[in-house]
Amino acid sequence: MVHIKWMLGQIEHREVITLGRVYNFSAGPSMLPEAVLKRAAAEMLDYQGTGESVMEMSHRSKEYQAIIDHCEALLREVMKIPDNYKVLFLQGGASSQFAMIPLNLLNGSGKADFVLTGQWATKAYQEASRYGSCKAVASSKDRTFSYIPKLDPASFTPDADYFHICLNNTIYGTVWHELPNTGNVPLVADISSCVLSQPIDVGRFGLLYAGAQKNMGPAGLTVVIIREDLIGRARESTPTMFNYATHAENGSMYNTPPTYAIYICGLVLEWIRDEIGGLEAMQAVNEKKAKLLYEFLDSSKLFKGTVVPEDRSLMNIPFVTGSDELDAQFVAEAKKAGFINLKGHRSVGGMRASIYNAMPVEGVEKLVALMARFEKENA
Ligand SMILES: *Cc1c(COP(=O)(O)O)cnc(C)c1O
Repeated sequence: MVHIKWMLGQIEHREVITLGRVYNFSAGPSMLPEAVLKRAAAEMLDYQGTGESVMEMSHRSKEYQAIIDHCEALLREVMKIPDNYKVLFLQGGASSQFAMIPLNLLNGSGKADFVLTGQWATKAYQEASRYGSCKAVASSKDRTFSYIPKLDPASFTPDADYFHICLNNTIYGTVWHELPNTGNVPLVADISSCVLSQPIDVGRFGLLYAGAQKNMGPAGLTVVIIREDLIGRARESTPTMFNYATHAENGSMYNTPPTYAIYICGLVLEWIRDEIGGLEAMQAVNEKKAKLLYEFLDSSKLFKGTVVPEDRSLMNIPFVTGSDELDAQFVAEAKKAGFINLKGHRSVGGMRASIYNAMPVEGVEKLVALMARFEKENA
């Protein structure tokens, strides 16, 4: 009986998936392309005639090896990753990279430079400071991280082991449009909230890292793209699991990788390549969505964006009404209408619409229509 009830629950749930999908503006975990979810659902019980779910597969099986190889090949193709870079499929989230990067790279001069553009950039700086001499060369904290600070290259540490930035600042909604010129110092970037949203010149970086749960797939997978010459420099005391060499030498199979998340990431990459048409096309869609929302914000009498126009993110768009009560009322009304997770980060307040790759254009169109109606009723 219990078994039947549980099964029925699943059937109801399936109906929710196909009939009652909400527009989810969460900063992460966030929406996945519906086509990916449907394909995963179809393959859930029997992956391509194997008679098992990908979740149940041995990571040492030839079927699973094909899945992880396919995911890596797709990522290399879609992001045009040069051959002298390794792709690592890890766990621990972007947050583990805050320690893993200094353990592996901060071992030459023991110095590194950081730009503080928000909470994540600051956490990366604080964690690395436990392992070496870290310098904040610029910060935008003075105005709640609502802009990308101008840099003075004379303040850079010439013999730094690396220079760290957070490319897209998820909480505050800023993005670097121009990369700092760090010369021979490897540029390291947290791209958790902008990976796969537009083309990126991987060759400009020593290391890129991203938690998957914004634009790549489910939580539990962390992707690191690292130039080969930066592997093998870990300090002696580095835990085996925190050494890039361990994972590079073992094809991300030193231990059990996050098998299912990698499989879904592969489906997301197939969707980007085959349905969208690659990262240039993805960028065009993302620009269209962001433009809809920014143009509305710039013309609204009630809502306004909080970021300086020149540093605005394509992915995360924070905005306010100027009144805490109206903000709360808007978030509540939006939720009732099927637009969820629009509340801003607890450190900023107001609203934030995260419009990652999987958010359809119509989701943003409908949000703007809702905001226009709210404005008419409340301005
Ligand atoms: C979400 C996010 C993180 C934290 O990622 P975890 O995988 O939860 O550790 C770090 N940096 C950026 C830019 C993020 O958006």
